[in-house]
Amino acid sequence: MARFDTKKLHAGYDPKDHNYAVSVPIYATTAFELDTVQRSDDMFSFDSWDPLYTRLSNPTTDVLEARLVELHNATAAVSLASGMAAVTYALLNVTAGSGRILATPRLYGGSIDSFTQVFRENNVKYDIVEDPDDIESYKKAIQPDTKVIFIESLTNPNATVLDIEAIAKVAHDAGIPLIVDNTLATPYLLNPFEFGADVVVYSATKGLSGHGNVVAGVIIENNKFDWKNGKFPQFSDQPYFLRAQDGSSRDYFDVFPDGPFTGRIRAIHLNYLGAALAPFSGYLVLLGLETLSERVQKQVDNAEKIVEYLETRIGKEVLWVKHPHAKNNPYSELAAKYFPKGAGGILSFGLDGTAEQRKDFLEAVKVWGFQANIGDAKSLIINPSTTTHTELNPELQKAADIQDNTIRLSLGLEDPQDLIDDLQQAFDKVFGL
Ligand SMILES: *Cc1c(COP(=O)(O)O)cnc(C)c1O
Repeated sequence: MARFDTKKLHAGYDPKDHNYAVSVPIYATTAFELDTVQRSDDMFSFDSWDPLYTRLSNPTTDVLEARLVELHNATAAVSLASGMAAVTYALLNVTAGSGRILATPRLYGGSIDSFTQVFRENNVKYDIVEDPDDIESYKKAIQPDTKVIFIESLTNPNATVLDIEAIAKVAHDAGIPLIVDNTLATPYLLNPFEFGADVVVYSATKGLSGHGNVVAGVIIENNKFDWKNGKFPQFSDQPYFLRAQDGSSRDYFDVFPDGPFTGRIRAIHLNYLGAALAPFSGYLVLLGLETLSERVQKQVDNAEKIVEYLETRIGKEVLWVKHPHAKNNPYSELAAKYFPKGAGGILSFGLDGTAEQRKDFLEAVKVWGFQANIGDAKSLIINPSTTTHTELNPELQKAADIQDNTIRLSLGLEDPQDLIDDLQQAFDKVFGL
């Protein structure tokens, strides 16, 4: 029963099982020797979980999954080739070809866009809650065929916080699960399972790995939701490939007793759609995880210093600053409950200038990288309305509170004074002071 910071270095890995290698080895192999026909029969009938073929599992990514399970006090996980694969597979699995997704408008641009592109094509509809800060809004929006509520715990670019516990209760009262995209928070700042989430997804590309050098995703479950409540018959399916060695039929609960949700994703979506995480990528995420707490805490501290600096510029170059640490931020109370260590390293501010001045400002910063990424060890800056959230139509941008003059910052690990000096020289340059 080790604590978080010990688990992030050791959980899910015993060097004795890997030639005493201290660093988790990268198993660069497609297939694994079956050796005997009995061993092969055991593996192909899910009676043994020894690795078989790297699209389905691999000893390197197995360690990553086991480590993340322990960091969340969860029961099962599946790692994938990107955060988008994690979001899409989780929602394909829960909807299974019919029904509706209920989501907030404050989502990663790609997630919302997948609803209109991928999901519509697969006979799944979606609804956006009218006011994500009002619990009644969620209750009102649930229809008889709504299969899931999907939210982000901490949002990009405005660092808003939702009342996860209350939303989980609305979902559970309706017999549906709550899936939380916890990418911005990372498990260091928040474990959504503690507040009623049933499934947690990550883009491990961001703060989880933290170095801007890998694209990866993961889906984690705690096996508490009652998938047998009548709304989710897909988990009681008995496809031929799940049969036991004696030929008898089995369902997903029989074959994946600790994790029917991620088990079905592995058996169907990962198996047939195939977004497997490469072992080398899994290794990079494991390496990044070793310093998760230290990195994220410094990012939070840096974000708070930048918030304080930008607030001194209000009435000059800055119109407003959005982060729970900002003065009079409507989310500071919720943040005190859900994010006692700090509400993350992402914030936004309104630049009080013309489109031309915004362009000049983005090109005038030198330390901040102008990139469509977040959660890197290096600090990043971008204008969401024409980049990360450009796929959202004007109505959805308005619902997500993304304005033309919104500038998003993702804090890295630099000396905060250098970051402040860089913003100041860019303001001076653009506004001619
Ligand atoms: C980046 C991101 C994703 C998509 O992840 P990729 O790894 O880029 O595919 C999903 N959700 C959130 C909140 C993200 O920030």
